[in-house]
Amino acid sequence: MEGLGLSPATIAVGAGRPERIPGAPLNAPITLASALVPGAGSEYGRHGNPAWDAFETVLGELEGGDALAFSSGIAAATAVFDLVPSGAAVVAPRTAYSGTLAQLRERERRGLIELRLVDITDTEAVNRAAADAALVWLESPTNPTLEVADIEAIGRAAGQTGTAVAVDNTFATPLRQRPLQMGADFVVHSASKLLSGHSDVVLGAVVMNSERAHRAIAARRSTMGAIPGALECWLAARGIRTLHVRLDRAEANAAELHRRLSASPAVQYSRYPGFGTVVAFEVVGGADAAQKATEQSQVVVYATSLGGVETTWERRRRHAQEPTTVPEGLIRLSVGLEDVDDLWADIEQALLVSTGISGSRAWPRGR
Ligand SMILES: *Cc1c(COP(=O)(O)O)cnc(C)c1O
Repeated sequence: MEGLGLSPATIAVGAGRPERIPGAPLNAPITLASALVPGAGSEYGRHGNPAWDAFETVLGELEGGDALAFSSGIAAATAVFDLVPSGAAVVAPRTAYSGTLAQLRERERRGLIELRLVDITDTEAVNRAAADAALVWLESPTNPTLEVADIEAIGRAAGQTGTAVAVDNTFATPLRQRPLQMGADFVVHSASKLLSGHSDVVLGAVVMNSERAHRAIAARRSTMGAIPGALECWLAARGIRTLHVRLDRAEANAAELHRRLSASPAVQYSRYPGFGTVVAFEVVGGADAAQKATEQSQVVVYATSLGGVETTWERRRRHAQEPTTVPEGLIRLSVGLEDVDDLWADIEQALLVSTGISGSRAWPRGR
């Protein structure tokens, strides 16, 4: 559908479909194949499988580049990190997805990279650290603290020093932010989250708009073998068909819950970057109250991960691997598609009970 000037909603629904010939299915089939007849690209299932194509095509068109699917978001990130020359510097957010930071720290310990952790909202600091680095890794908004980077300014500066820029676009999705159009060289996704959207897939992708980068990342995938499954790609492509509708609804719910949380006497502060489906907040009473609250809910699911149709929450620091730059009591709320009043009633009772603020004392608000 490329070159037709279509809007993202139309691309999400229509890109990556089989050719319209009589009798063809509207959706690409799930191809289970380790070996393929030679003569048309891949002849072995680790180097390529037609089952990956629909997902890669629709994601690539949405991001404005070419996508390569990986077995997980972390596998996708690994392929990008593997391109960093031995001993070179990598700039990364001091707060980011725990698995990404854990891997970067491990690479630093093994002497493979020099790791420079920065506040990604401080563009000057990022650009100073990036000037002689091989790679700037951005995650924007960050997980779970929701910091936002000025990708365009960082991309401009990096273009002058020859520093590569990669953006983990998991939270924004290509419907809210297209980093390749803002100066980034790589976009990385955990498709386990909003792209697939139903908490039933683990999958990742790298998207790029240079042929050289595409060849290099494809080679990493074949070499390390972190290839996607056929079923996972099929499910994620199906998820993307409704991404724009899910995102609009979840985003409206998230903005409203952020507004109500900000006004609640049980809440210290609530953070929401103005787009996306994740809200981060801290309650009165710290980590204990936060942990208790998240285990109290009946509509909101106490669970990790994010981006599903169902609303989930958890205290992130309950995971030992979570960076200590994340406050102990911070609750990450992944907002789904339920009725917002049902969600709020559930959240409010959980917060009031766990913080010891009774319903009657909470009204009227006297802060
Ligand atoms: C979940 C997540 C990842 C890791 O993706 P997996 O699919 O779990 O490997 C990377 N970045 C962000 C921002 C995430 O939320």
